[in-house]
Amino acid sequence: MNTDLCVSPISAFKDNYIWAIHTQTHAVIVDPGDARPVWTFLQKKHLQLSAILITHHHHDHVGGIADLVGRHPAPVYGPATEVIPCRSIAVQEGNTIELKELALTMHVLEVPGHTAGHIAYYTDGMLFCGDTLFGCGCGRLFEGTPEQMHASLTKLANLPRDSEVYCAHEYTLNNIAFALTVEPRNPDLLARAVADQNRIARDEPTLPSTIGLELATNPFLRCQISQVQDYARQASDHPLRSVTEVFAVLRTLKNDFN
Ligand SMILES: [Zn+2]
Repeated sequence: MNTDLCVSPISAFKDNYIWAIHTQTHAVIVDPGDARPVWTFLQKKHLQLSAILITHHHHDHVGGIADLVGRHPAPVYGPATEVIPCRSIAVQEGNTIELKELALTMHVLEVPGHTAGHIAYYTDGMLFCGDTLFGCGCGRLFEGTPEQMHASLTKLANLPRDSEVYCAHEYTLNNIAFALTVEPRNPDLLARAVADQNRIARDEPTLPSTIGLELATNPFLRCQISQVQDYARQASDHPLRSVTEVFAVLRTLKNDFN
């Protein structure tokens, strides 16, 4: 791994994170929903835009692309099966992307569920997962089925445990509140609640998390755990015959959780 590499959050809208992967001179931007805060960040740090990586077509992830590439031409990578403005290179599962200025190779993972063509980018212990996996939660199923989303989350859960997870929204505290209704006595979850409340109180992001932390605390990655299954069974009006059905019940409960 390139030891000069930094990953910085750029806050946008109410709770989006646009991630900048950068050296002292070049930056790759993930999901620029708004160009203004990205441009300000690049100017302040004297960084040249090197490439843009897009995970899915939602406006809060693609809205700033045209403005950014209008100011400074750069390749725009995005999912092959979605309509992405200014996309110059369509990518799909198994493709690799050489980010030469960062000395980094990105691997493309298809993770449908939040949207039908959603992809994630993985490299050297870092995962950029858009709106698929969140801190202690997961994305809503706008276009995919519970089966697809559960398979996508399982794919991410199988990455090395120390992989850093860079999600696109600061939803962690609300997700933890929901997770505590499912597993109120999970010691890792209780510890995470304190740690992340402290981060937010200090005005710091709760991200990145790690795959290991998500496996220990995120109910959507824990549908095979008996406590999680018992909770879903009690909340369901029909018998649950598979881990995917447990996942589907949890996702529905979370949709109504505030
Ligand atoms: Zn989205």
